[in-house]
Amino acid sequence: MTKKTINKKNQKQIALKRIQGLFELASNKATDDNFELADRYTHIARKISMKYLVPIPNEYKRCFCKHCYCYLLPDVNSRFRIKNGKIIIFCKNCKKYTRIPFKNKK
Ligand SMILES: [Zn+2]
Repeated sequence: MTKKTINKKNQKQIALKRIQGLFELASNKATDDNFELADRYTHIARKISMKYLVPIPNEYKRCFCKHCYCYLLPDVNSRFRIKNGKIIIFCKNCKKYTRIPFKNKK
């Protein structure tokens, strides 16, 4: 009998794949006007990232509200503006702002 061995590298890769899959599902549900399920998927993705210490990729970080963790769709339940080199996201759910500065890549 051999014991199942899952090393930590494999674990983190699996966690990342699950996070990406969950955000894809969330975006599909949000475009179908099913925000309850989209919010649930973002909650699960966040929990996985916290449990396995995997950071959420940058492209998905803008997809949910930092304050209430609901899924954001531009012009449906959120507003995206650019000002002074920052992206300003307004969440219509909790009526709070999130500011993300640009990074100049050289
Ligand atoms: Zn919010």
